[in-house]
Order: sequence, then structure tokens, then C-alpha cells
Amino acid sequence: MHKKLFIPGPIDVMEDVLDQMTKPMIGHRSKEASSLQRSISEKFQKVFYTKEQILLSTSSGSGLMEGAIRSCTRKRAAVFSVGAFGDRWYKMAVSNNVSADKYSAEPGEATLPDDVDRVLATGKYDLITITHNETSTGVMNPIYEIAEVVRKYPEVVWCLDAVSSMGGTKIEVDKLGIDICITSTQKCLGMPPGMSIASMSQKAIEAAKKVEHRGYYLDLLTLYEYIQKKDHQYPSTPALSIMYAMDYQLDKILAEGLENRYRRHEEMAEYVRQWARERFKIFPNEKYASNTLTTIKNTKGINIAQLNKELGNRGYAISNGYGDLKEKTFRISHMGDYTIDDIKDLLENIDEILE
Ligand SMILES: *Cc1c(COP(=O)(O)O)cnc(C)c1O
Repeated sequence: MHKKLFIPGPIDVMEDVLDQMTKPMIGHRSKEASSLQRSISEKFQKVFYTKEQILLSTSSGSGLMEGAIRSCTRKRAAVFSVGAFGDRWYKMAVSNNVSADKYSAEPGEATLPDDVDRVLATGKYDLITITHNETSTGVMNPIYEIAEVVRKYPEVVWCLDAVSSMGGTKIEVDKLGIDICITSTQKCLGMPPGMSIASMSQKAIEAAKKVEHRGYYLDLLTLYEYIQKKDHQYPSTPALSIMYAMDYQLDKILAEGLENRYRRHEEMAEYVRQWARERFKIFPNEKYASNTLTTIKNTKGINIAQLNKELGNRGYAISNGYGDLKEKTFRISHMGDYTIDDIKDLLENIDEILE
């Protein structure tokens, strides 16, 4: 039996979107490939609210995260972490020999504008990474307020991990001044896993030109220049099947309307939070609770693995806590193309099991 996935990615992909992946291949150096990739990029510019070039990568989001910190850190990177995915960015820096320092918030707390200001005021850093939506703790960082601070430091390249939020909540990349904004296909966008997407500003491009060892496959400058020169083609063979699904799903996203999509995510989030408050406790500081997934504190000491097993028999899957938070928390994602009725259905089933 298929389990409906309420895990924070991959999530269910609509059947008509999946069907697109059975289309025949085209040559990746053909005019058709250029026009497919151009079409995808133009639609993503709307979703990202950006005029900058969109880069597609045949890697999951982690690939572009690693590429960004390696390609654009000239001096030293400040990694702001509020959980497992922020920590991942620090590990990427260290393992690529990129100088970096990590600034962590308490579990369930957010990265605050003052923290960023204090760190950048030292003058030690020319790149920062922020996790927009921390999928382990369920914190959504206040990027609009953080943007006000980052603006004061024009030499700093701002990289944003929007893997579990882009397409589910508004992120106006150009207005915010985000230099590299990264997302993956398999979360709020409701696409099959295997590719990732980033925007890249002129500032980031100029920064990358000053970095000597940018790697090869994930060198964002080479990717950018190739797209520009070769009419949206890529240096190596991309996952064309996923691109067919992407192009098609982007039409559906834009037809729904971005504001409607954000509102639907908010409604689902509010419903899950209310449910959680009445039965458990919301793990993160509620002021920063995410609109795309909810991390719930297991105040009743229930066996989460057992709950998930029983949910599985009924055709649903949720997530246990991430890392250290396993069994202490559990996570319900409300992202992609689900509706409030799907959420009600899931929560009714959880209630029945818990009774
Ligand atoms: C899922 C996730 C990632 C990792 O993305 P992949 O596409 O699996 O590489 C990174 N950051 C956040 C916040 C995520 O939720």
C-alpha cells in the first residue's frame, strides 16, 4: 500500500506530474533542451521573485549548498545554525577547507537580526549562510528582519537555505538582497527528488571570480557562465525526466497563484499547530514556528516509532524527531500540494490510534 507522505520531503507528487517523467529523451545539447531549461528558469524567477539567473543542478539541495559556500567564500564564512541543516553547512565548509565559524542558537530558537549584526560587525566575514526553515526543529527564521541588517554589509554574500520553504512561503529574493537562494524539488514545490535550484546575484558571481579552488561539478561560476554562453544548457547531462516534471508542475504552481499557495500552507500549519497545542506542545518558540512543517514536543511520552507503524497500516507516514530529538519530538509536514482535508484526515487517524 502507498503511504501518503507527511514527512518533510520527499512528499507525494501528483500523478499527472509524475506522468511527465515518462516522456522520451531529447539530446541535452539540442534546441529543445535549451528551450525546456529556459522555460523552467523563467518560471522559477517568478517563484523566487528574482531577475537574476536561475541555476539548475542535478544534485539534491545539499549539492548547491556545498557549491555555494565553496565557490563564494573569499575570506571566511559565518554559518548561522539553528539545527541539523545549519550544522550541515558548517561541515561542508570544513570538509572543503573553507574557513568558517559556526554560530548556533538554542534548540527551538531562531537566528535573530542582532546576532547577525554582532557577528558581521567584527568585519571577519565575507559570506554568511542562514537556514530559512530548519526542518529538524521546525523554526522559520525571520529573514525579512535579518535582511535589514545584512544590507549594512555590502561586501557580504548572503546564502539562504530555502530547501524546505521555497514555494510554500513568500521569499522575495531580490527585495531581500539574498545573493544565493537554494531549494530542492522534493519539498514545498511538489516535484520528484533529484534536482535543486538556486538564484545567483551579480555580487555572488563577482565573489566567485576571486576564489581560486571552486571545485568542478558544483562550481557555481562555471555553471552560471555556461548557462549564459550556451543558451541555458549545462556543462554535464542534467536529469531531463525531472525537468519535464518541473516545467509542468511550475505551470500548476503559477496557475494556483503564489499567494494562494502560501495561504494554503499557512492554513494547514495553523490547523496542525492548534491540534498540537491541544494534545502536546509545539517544540520551537511559537513566534518562529514554521509554516511548512510542525515539530511537536512528545509531552505524553508516546512511542513515536510505534505510532508511525500503525499510521503506516492506515496509509500514512509522519517523521520521528531528527537526530537528538528522536522520540522527544515528532514532525508533521504540511507542504507541497496537500490540502487542509488531507491534514484533517491524517490528524483524525493519529487521534484514533492514540485513543
Ligand atoms: C531537506 C533539507 C536539506 C537537504 O536537502 P537535500 O535536497 O536532501 O539535499 C537541506 N536543508 C533543509 C532545511 C532541508 O529541509
